[in-house]
Order: sequence, then structure tokens, then C-alpha cells
Amino acid sequence: MSGVTPLALPPPDLIAINAALIAVRQAAQVLCDRATLLVLLYAHGGTTRYADFSMQTGLASRVLSSRLARLTEDGLLVRIPYSRRPLRHAYHLTHMGVALFDVLALLVSWEQAWPGAGGPNDVAQIVHLGCKPAHGLVSAATSVRMHCAACKVPVSPRDISLRVSQTEMAKMPAKSTATRKTSQDTAVKPGDAMTPIPQALAVLGDKWSIEVLVCAFFGLRQFGNFGKRLGISTNILTDRLERLVQEGLLRRTADDDDTHRKGLYLLTPKGRGFYAILIAIQSWADEWIHHRVRSPVKLRHAPCRKPLQPLLTCMACGLGVTHAQGRIRIAMAAEKKMLTTDLDIAPHGLVDDNSSKAFTVKG
Ligand SMILES: [Zn+2]
Ligand SMILES: [Zn+2]
Repeated sequence: MSGVTPLALPPPDLIAINAALIAVRQAAQVLCDRATLLVLLYAHGGTTRYADFSMQTGLASRVLSSRLARLTEDGLLVRIPYSRRPLRHAYHLTHMGVALFDVLALLVSWEQAWPGAGGPNDVAQIVHLGCKPAHGLVSAATSVRMHCAACKVPVSPRDISLRVSQTEMAKMPAKSTATRKTSQDTAVKPGDAMTPIPQALAVLGDKWSIEVLVCAFFGLRQFGNFGKRLGISTNILTDRLERLVQEGLLRRTADDDDTHRKGLYLLTPKGRGFYAILIAIQSWADEWIHHRVRSPVKLRHAPCRKPLQPLLTCMACGLGVTHAQGRIRIAMAAEKKMLTTDLDIAPHGLVDDNSSKAFTVKG
């Protein structure tokens, strides 16, 4: 089997897990919904008008309206009129919404690093403005990774230490698990090749999957332990563990004919790759969700012993990428087909990136 001996590992720190779950739930209230993430992704791609959101996301109008209203209420979008007669509004990202660039860029990079069963999905791409990579192309699509802003070293999950502030913990509401009802319309719709980052949306779009992943990062491995920590029903837990195994983020060490309660659930490299996204979310929530109780979780970068401040760097040129120099570009359905045709007939290297029929946000 796997050769993993769980007894040799330190026991999971239950206080730390609880603190991390509380912190994650605060942000999950705002973000962990597939339709919400899809709207945010297109907003970062430059979409502002209802009709464009509707066409590009393919969301039912009831779902789209509710997500736009919720994101406006939560302060990530702002409604600005663009026509007086008839009165029409556009939805623009606020500073709080723009600051989610790190999270979305890491999601896009994760999706590219770990293609799903449907093969690579490059519908969403990251563009680093002013990028000067070695091969000389300007503003080609790139991917990002997380560095520590203090010591400029790439951050790996092993290098992160976590402190729980007992003072902040004591201030937490006794039960911080109240959740908004998630619409059934946001269930994963596999098989649409034009959906950007389908796997990332499936994982981050589901708050239970995220909570299971957080527990896995803290060393929980057994079915019963996940259940105890999360306080969820057996069938939901079974479903989420199974989904995460199918998505390739966890693997189960038991034989196939064992029940789901046997064996251990271990993070795969693909699952471990998701840690940067969770850190970016925590960092964003700490900065922007002011009305909440301050997170009791303090992350440190062990090698430099400084509080962990994530810094995204461009894989092509190695420089830092903030939302000021980064863009999310999303290829649109009809245009995507044209782009593919162009690529089919154009000699390699002659496709001008600026003329591609993709959509890039300005300013
Ligand atoms: Zn670059
Ligand atoms: Zn550091």
C-alpha cells in the first residue's frame, strides 16, 4: 500500500483546525459558490453589463441577478449607471473585488498545472502586463506562483506555521457555521469545454469541499475524524470525499471494495497545490472583510519567521504580479473557435497575441 504510517505523524492540532475552519467559513460565505466565482472571474475579465454576464456565464437570469445583487451588497461590485434612457447599470469591481485577483490568478494557475479528465482548459488565462520573459513575447499568457513577500522565497505548505490567537478565538461567536443557502443551480456542470477553470470552480465553489480540504491540510485522514471535526452528515461527507478523490485532490488508501469509512484519505500533489489558494483567500478576507470578527489564525513563513504575506510572481519573467500589472483574459465561445482556426492555419509563432479574439480588461 502507500507506506504511510499515520501514527508517526504528530496528532492534528484540533484548536488550530477549529480556528482555521472559522476563518475559512467567514470567507466562504462570500466566495464559495460556483455562480459567484464565475461572475467574479468574468468581472475580472472585463465584463460589466448584465447582458454580457448572462451570455458569457450561461447562468439562468434568476441566479445571475441574485449573485450580482449579493456581490454588490457584499461590496465586491458597485452598480454605476451607463445609460439614463432607458436607465441601465453596469457592475464594476470595487477595490475589494479587484483585490481578489490573487485568488483568481492562483485558481487559473492551479487549473493549468493540473489538467482534468477533459484535458487542458485554457479558456481563462493570466496576462502579466509589461512582462519581459526570456523568449521575448510581450504579455503572453503566463501563470503565477506564491512567494513570501518578506524573504522572496517560494512558499510551500511545509514552510507555513500557524498560530492561533486565543484572544481572538475567545471573541469568536460560539457557533460560526451559519451559511447562506446555496442554490442547486450552481451544481457542477461538467463537459462544457468553454467553462473557464471547471475543476477550480467545482472545488472552491463548494464550501464543504473546502472545509474537507482544510482538515486534510491539518493532517486529518480518517473518515470518522473528518466527520467529527466538521459536524456534517455521513452522506454529505461521503459525497465530498468521493468528489475530491475523483477530482484528484485526495486519494484513498483502501481497496476499492472497502466501504468509504475504511482506509485513509491523503492529499495528492494536486490537492497540496490548492494550499496557495486557501492562503490567498485568508489573506484577502483578513484585509477586506472588516465587519467580521478578526481571524484567530496567524500564518507565519517558517524559513524567515515573518508573518506570511503572499506575493504572486510571474512564472515567465519571475517578477511580482499584483492586480495592477495582472489581467485575467477569458476567451469567448464563438471567438474561441475562430482563434483555434487561426492557430490551425497560421505558421507557428505568427499569431499576434494582441489580435487574438480574447477579452482583456482595460485599466
Ligand atoms: Zn511576467
Ligand atoms: Zn519568508
